[in-house]
Amino acid sequence: MYVNKKNFTFHNGVDIPSIGFGTWQIPNEEAYDAVTLALKNGYTLIDTAQAYHNEENVGKAIEDFDLPRESIFLTSKLPADIKGYDETLEAFNKTLTNLGMDYVDLYLIHAPWPWDEVGKDCTKENIQTWKAMEKLYTDGKIRAIGVSNFSKQDIQALIDACDIVPMANQIPFYIGRDQKELLDFCKKNSILVEAYSPLATGDILNSPEIMDMAKKYGVTTAQLSIRYCLEKDTLPLPKSTHESRIIENSQLDFTLSPEDVKKLDAMKDVRDK
Ligand code: NAP
Repeated sequence: MYVNKKNFTFHNGVDIPSIGFGTWQIPNEEAYDAVTLALKNGYTLIDTAQAYHNEENVGKAIEDFDLPRESIFLTSKLPADIKGYDETLEAFNKTLTNLGMDYVDLYLIHAPWPWDEVGKDCTKENIQTWKAMEKLYTDGKIRAIGVSNFSKQDIQALIDACDIVPMANQIPFYIGRDQKELLDFCKKNSILVEAYSPLATGDILNSPEIMDMAKKYGVTTAQLSIRYCLEKDTLPLPKSTHESRIIENSQLDFTLSPEDVKKLDAMKDVRDK
């Protein structure tokens, strides 16, 4: 099993497993079983968010599972429409209550703008929000802090105005969407990129070119797609509610040749029609 073999390390020295289990679109009623299946099959990084409305059962599954809390790495996120210093502290407390925990491992600003105002300039609000994240971090309530869906400019604004460089940026990342510029910027600033939707929420799985390459390696299209994220030094967060797929997505003991990675880099985004 690949999942527990390796870690990434944030710039503050905290380790995070190199692949995680995503829980977006898993309803609260199903989250307990899904997270339990993931833990049972070796995943120790679980990714949730207040906006997924499943924190309660994600937290319960972790509490009930036969592993010490410190052996599990939990990420949650500040809702995209909540910005500001006090608002952030309050929302974080709600997340702790939902989870039934007294700390989280990684806490992210879910997006630089509310989802119904994508692209809006919220720089001032994000700076106030980040200062609250810094406080929660220095108070020991969060082991690492980061952002999600942030552009270079969004991140630079935080670096210029605040004390702590974000430790992670969680962004859409899959074959055909290699985010080269943003990835280079994050690497230069020692920010770990987490690859969300590594299967393009399933859209990638019928790509004939990717299927062909997967056959060559004797792996599934999903495995090749998730392995690609690792080859690019990003941390993939696949989601499935089926045990066979949860297992499949973690079996990544193979490597892609540099030539094939280049071929995959050159592919078009399956979502660009
Ligand atoms: P994804 O992991 O790219 O794809 C999930 C889809 O693929 C589901 O429909 C799943 O179906 C299917 N699938 C998974 N493994 C498969 C396999 N081996 N064979 C065939 N089908 C398979 O999807 P995602 O949920 O968009 O992204 C993953 C995680 O990233 C999320 O859960 C969330 O934690 C995170 N995320 C974060 C943000 C953000 O704004 N920060 C946004 C989106 C996602 P079944 O479940 O039916 O198996």
